Amino acid sequence: MQITVLTLFPEMIMQNAGVSILGRALSSDLIRINAVNIRDYANNKHGKVDDYPYGGGAGMVMQAEPVYRAYEAVTKDLNRKPRVIYLDPKGRTFDQKMAHELAAEEELIFLCGHYEGVDERVLNEIVDDHVSIGDYVLTGGELPAMVMIDAIARLLPGVLHNGESAQSETFENCLLEYPQYSRPEVWHGESVPEVLLSGHHENVEKWRHEQSVRKTLQNRPDLFEKYLSKDL
Ligand code: SAM
Repeated sequence: MQITVLTLFPEMIMQNAGVSILGRALSSDLIRINAVNIRDYANNKHGKVDDYPYGGGAGMVMQAEPVYRAYEAVTKDLNRKPRVIYLDPKGRTFDQKMAHELAAEEELIFLCGHYEGVDERVLNEIVDDHVSIGDYVLTGGELPAMVMIDAIARLLPGVLHNGESAQSETFENCLLEYPQYSRPEVWHGESVPEVLLSGHHENVEKWRHEQSVRKTLQNRPDLFEKYLSKDL
């Protein structure tokens, strides 16, 4: 998968992308990430890409032209329009289902806003999806882009090793994951649940399912409703 991030702060993307499982996926070429600095496409020698909002009000707005020129530069040699996602607190909320949907794309472009956001006209022209990572406002789209890239990348074939399977995880079947334990058997006086030491695969699975149901009911009754109706 090829991912391009249009941003005013490419270093925020590349620093985060280089570590852990995502870093490993980059080095083995399972995913390619290119952070493009929108400032390089400013049409003035100071690299200024923002201006005052028409109609007044606080803050600055990212201008349409530099964003458009950056987009044109990364798409000019492609034979079809890649899906463009604008990180936007006003957008549809990102979830595991959307992560699966986006993981099926060959090419994605993320557009990160800053300040008060981006001139609406360029959004109307190039953006396919407005996506929020939650009901709070951040200073820029770089962290939301990284959240989405991380969630998408770990679903790509080969990114997680056998022992890191994503299949039984939280949200995959509308249930939160069961509690996990590792060595030692007793820690601070608390023992690992007996059933996990039994070697009885069926009982382990039954216990894990019960724990998942209990945790989901307790922490996310909304998700449990979905689990009951399988309305994904
Ligand atoms: N004035 C905008 C509003 O009220 O909707 C908020 C702009 S915010 C300070 C600057 C940029 O951060 C946005 O353009 C967007 O790219 C990004 N951003 C902030 N919160 C976000 C969220 N919850 N999800 C996705 N992107 C977000």
